Amino acid sequence: MSVPSPILRFAPSPNGRLHLGHAYSALLNAEIAGRLRGVCRLRIEDIDPVRAKPDLAAAAIDDLGWLGLRYPSPVRHQSRHMGEYRAALNRLIAEGLAYPCFCSRGAIRAAAEAGSAPIPCDPDGAPLYPGTCRTLDPREATRRRDGGEPHTWRLDMARALPRGAKDGRVRYIAFDGGEDRPVTVEPGLWGDAVVARRDVPTSYHLSVVHDDAVEGITHVVRGMDLEAATGLHVLLQGLLGLLTPRYHHHALIRDGDGRKLAKSRGSTSLARLREEGVSPGEIRAELGF
Ligand code: GLU
Repeated sequence: MSVPSPILRFAPSPNGRLHLGHAYSALLNAEIAGRLRGVCRLRIEDIDPVRAKPDLAAAAIDDLGWLGLRYPSPVRHQSRHMGEYRAALNRLIAEGLAYPCFCSRGAIRAAAEAGSAPIPCDPDGAPLYPGTCRTLDPREATRRRDGGEPHTWRLDMARALPRGAKDGRVRYIAFDGGEDRPVTVEPGLWGDAVVARRDVPTSYHLSVVHDDAVEGITHVVRGMDLEAATGLHVLLQGLLGLLTPRYHHHALIRDGDGRKLAKSRGSTSLARLREEGVSPGEIRAELGF
C-alpha cells in the first residue's frame, strides 16, 4: 500500500476579519506542509448563516494572499456542502446515535444549576447537557419536529462510546516537531454534544470530520484551543467509518495582556495592520517565520 502524500488544511471561520492568530496558524500550516513535502488546502468554515458573511470569506482569502499564501483550487466552502453533512447526520440518526433536542440554552443552564454544585461542564466550559430530551418518547419527538419546533441534534454519548471507543477512550497520533506520539483521550467528557445546530443540519464537529475525510487530510495543524475537541472528532470518525489524521495543536498567539486573540475582543486584524502600512514580511518576522 502506498503512503498518501501529506495534505494539510487551514480552515478559518469567516465570522470576522482574520487576525494575527490566524496568520500564525496559516503560516505554520504552510511551513509544515513544505517540510513534509505535502500541500496545504484552504477551507472556509462558513456554516454559521448569521455570522459567516461571503464578503468576510473573500476578505480572508485576500488577506492570506497578501501574506503570500497560495492554495490549490477549489477552495472548499462548507456552506456549499450542507447536503453532505445532512447525509452524515442522517447516518448517525439511523444508527440510533443522535436524538433531537428541543431545550433552549437557558433551559439547559437552569437544569444544570438545579442539580448538584459545582455544575459539571464540558471541556469548553459549557454546562454538560443533562439529557432531558434523550428519553423523550420518539412519537412525541416526531410530533414536535413535524410541528416545526426548533431543535438541535445531539450525539447519544452512552450509545456512541461502545461503538466508537474502547473502554471510553480513543487514540490518535500527535505529531510535534516531527515526533509521533500516541495520545489517549476520553470523548465522553463532552457529554451529548451537539452534532447539528438549530439552523443548519450540522455543527462545527460534524462538518470538520466530514471535510477532513473528504479532502483526504492527513495532518491537522490547529490551535491548542481545539485540542480537547480532537477526542470528540476521533470518536465521530470511528462512528462514521472515517480515517483519523495526525494532529498537531500549536500554542496560541496571545495579546499584550496574555489573553487569547479573538475577533470579539477587537484584536488587531490583518486588515488594520495592512492599512497601517505593516508589510507581510514584518508580520512573518513578528510571528517567527
Ligand atoms: N474553523 C475553526 C476556527 O476558525 C478551526 C477548525 C479546525 O482547524 O479544526 O476556529
